[in-house]
Amino acid sequence: MKILVINCGSSSLKYQLIDMEKEAVLAKGLCERIGIDGSKLTHKAEGKEDFVNETPMPDHSVAVKLVFDALTDSAHGVVQSVDEISAIGHRVLHGGTKFTESIVVTDEVKKVIRECFDLGPLHNPANLMGIEACEKVVPGKKNVAVFDTTFGMGLPEKAYYYAIPTEYYEKYGIRRYGFHGTSHAFVSKETIRFGQLDPEKARVIVCHLGNGASISASIGGRAVDTSMGLTPLEGLIMGTRSGDIDAAVVQYIANHENKTVDEVLNILNKKSGVLGMSGVSSDFRDVENAAREGNHMAEVALDAFRYRVAKYIGAYAAAMNGVDAIAFTAGVGENDKVTRKLVCEQYLSFLGVKIDDERNNVRGEERLISADDSSVKVFLIPTNEELAIARDTLRLI
Ligand code: AMP
Repeated sequence: MKILVINCGSSSLKYQLIDMEKEAVLAKGLCERIGIDGSKLTHKAEGKEDFVNETPMPDHSVAVKLVFDALTDSAHGVVQSVDEISAIGHRVLHGGTKFTESIVVTDEVKKVIRECFDLGPLHNPANLMGIEACEKVVPGKKNVAVFDTTFGMGLPEKAYYYAIPTEYYEKYGIRRYGFHGTSHAFVSKETIRFGQLDPEKARVIVCHLGNGASISASIGGRAVDTSMGLTPLEGLIMGTRSGDIDAAVVQYIANHENKTVDEVLNILNKKSGVLGMSGVSSDFRDVENAAREGNHMAEVALDAFRYRVAKYIGAYAAAMNGVDAIAFTAGVGENDKVTRKLVCEQYLSFLGVKIDDERNNVRGEERLISADDSSVKVFLIPTNEELAIARDTLRLI
């Protein structure tokens, strides 16, 4: 059985076609600049030359049509016809309080995704466009919505309520939802499987450290806490997002810089994080290079980033009354051995965490990186959100 996974942004569409028997990627690609001049599809298939198509894509339906054309093309395609594709799994950012699970798309599901535009203004409209484009281009094919918020919907009340008047939860659903949920669910379960931990009782902290960064605590794969909140702004310091901040900062900047709340939030989302602190870049590699060359604020930004990761690990160890395993994942987590080592050894040695330098000298590969006498096992577990979406899609159809 083959499942197509689609992740739509407002002007982009990423896809992977996955063979579920082998859980292998048959083809993947990216449509860029949808609705903008210079649209481009880049398609890569196992054992075939990369294919680039620069046909204009005025909307997502045209992009989806080009994706299916590429997948079925006699030269660079991987299937004879769309009939070989059993269903389409869509990444959807926000499911609000309505969805605690992935779900087959119906009119009612689309209505709720639309109702959540307010909660995910950048992503939900694009995610819905992707679903509707598929309905139009391949009518009758089942679409499944996999929400980034599903993992966080399993949090206990003490973790998801904000300490603000409850009427705002009741009226607007203001609560901690958490994001990167597909990744946290996937990596926490994979850590248990790979590490041969107790499937029911293992207390696992997953550090998803990428351009967006978040951290979660779970017991036996069930969410206990997670660092992102109502939106992906809360929690860790990220490439461009501030993470946790005193809400009064918003008021202070707004008053002193004559800005609206929306404008300040834009600064916190897009111009802050390691970019805002260092003034160099949102890309951790650039910030690391700048720090090596003596840029003080680049060094502080990296220190602050690692410090906050460690603070959350400490907090989550308390939340679970202990921790059995810590897993690092995503761009920084999978590639940056220095961050993994410093987070663990600069701050967590009191927990008995010890990194084995030779094991830690690895990128993007499933591996135990802690020493044999570490009291907490530390792993590198590459995330695979597309596979997680495909598995959910398969399960539901
Ligand atoms: P993601 O959002 O998961 O794709 O992660 C992207 C981030 O990973 C970018 O900020 C990259 O700079 C970072 N990254 C990738 N490779 C490395 C590396 N070798 N060292 C540090 N950061 C890296």
